[in-house]
Amino acid sequence: MPPQGILLIVELLPKNWEVRFIDENIDPVRPEDFAWADAVFVSGMHIQRERIHDITRRAHRAGKAVVLGGPSVSSAPEYYPEVDLLHCGEVGDGTARLFQRLDETIERPAEQIAFHTVERLPMADFPTPAYNRIDPRKYLLGSVQFSSGCPFTCEFCDIPALYGRNPRLKTPEQIVHELDQLADGGCNAIYFVDDNFIGNPKATQELLPHLIEWQKKRDYSVHLSCEATLNMVTHTRILEQMREAGFTNVFFGIETPEPTALKAMKKGQNLRTPILEAVQTVNRYGIEAASGIIMGLDTDTAETPQAIMDFADVSNIPIMTVNLLYALPKTALHERLLKENRVLHDAGNRDSNIVFLEPYENVLRNWQAVIGYVYSPEKLYARYNYNALHTFPNRIPPKNPLKQATWRNLKRAIRIFSRLIWHVGIRSDYRRLFWDMAWRELKQGNVENVFAIAIVAHHLITYSRECTEGKMQSSNYSMRQVEADRSQTLQTA
Ligand code: SF4
Repeated sequence: MPPQGILLIVELLPKNWEVRFIDENIDPVRPEDFAWADAVFVSGMHIQRERIHDITRRAHRAGKAVVLGGPSVSSAPEYYPEVDLLHCGEVGDGTARLFQRLDETIERPAEQIAFHTVERLPMADFPTPAYNRIDPRKYLLGSVQFSSGCPFTCEFCDIPALYGRNPRLKTPEQIVHELDQLADGGCNAIYFVDDNFIGNPKATQELLPHLIEWQKKRDYSVHLSCEATLNMVTHTRILEQMREAGFTNVFFGIETPEPTALKAMKKGQNLRTPILEAVQTVNRYGIEAASGIIMGLDTDTAETPQAIMDFADVSNIPIMTVNLLYALPKTALHERLLKENRVLHDAGNRDSNIVFLEPYENVLRNWQAVIGYVYSPEKLYARYNYNALHTFPNRIPPKNPLKQATWRNLKRAIRIFSRLIWHVGIRSDYRRLFWDMAWRELKQGNVENVFAIAIVAHHLITYSRECTEGKMQSSNYSMRQVEADRSQTLQTA
């Protein structure tokens, strides 16, 4: 996905500053980029911490000041002692003071300076992020943000502390304009990166008619997706509107199928409707559910891994992001575990900074077993097959699908399809599952389903194999270095 935050910053920079924008997910920063710049702006999440350090070192070698903003530094400025200028918090008065400092001098300060936002810029005053700086077709998904913040207080989550419990909002007009920019640039799937799309259900309900109108104008050519809390299923009108607006995927922080664990982590909002019933409900509106799952909870028992595997089977949720619990700064979990002396200052070669009740090796082994199970080709294709039969048919199809078959789209589709045939249909050890699915869907004219299922499934199967070989981190917040191994794997593939 395009990085929302730094694209917004690009648009807010003084207009007389020249800007070169580089997303390292697409292209690496080159030495000549550092040489060209007066100052280097960086943004990232905790998992990108090592890369942030690396960019900082390279910028310093080129003699340039480094400015760091974004979610990681806002939550834990102490992670970045070597960065020159820190931007902590959201866009606001701290941003203005930072720009003023850089206007006065681009020299590296003798000591780190931190700019903290106290007065946030209202989101209704946000400009459109600089989508004109990216090629949206290079991303699997486009990204927009309607709201920031979440009213809930799950013990492990830093969103309420960082972004507040009263969601702040953009206007529907801003969102429609952003969607237009991305779709005109070639995006056919766009993700709402809001912390919780229904953090303010009334605002969501007011936005959705605008999205419906937009989607109808574009004849359902763009799939929309978002993340939200599971209590969404209690808002039937919102579900109806989401279907009409072309929402096809929603990520839910289900976290665990065990009710006692949900209570312990203060996630009672997941208990309002039985979880399986909630998943089936969203499926009836054409929405494929994705789920976050956490392992390493104090409530985990010897039965927990099997309970998660059973949950995958019966919920038929294809994408399950299974992570080890991590104590993020500014969370109630961090505070509690600090008091219990269970937070590691330096996690070393571990993927979590928590001293689990179980030995770390057991927790990691259980995680690998769960990942290996849920993303075994048979299990994953079975869950996708369920959704192809019971979820996807509930979506509103385009009236003129052939209108989307532009020469540019066709060329892209042929390129992707030939790679799929080679890597999945011929070379993979699960090609029979692929061909069974592809044949069934092609017979019904569902070409798009073949792409959607096969591409994501291939990625997940490859990912799970790397996990079980120890080549991937078991937590999104892990600092363990595996990137070098991984890039080598991709290069030799
Ligand atoms: S519902 Fe989601 S975003 Fe809100 S506090 Fe809980 S985990 Fe965080």
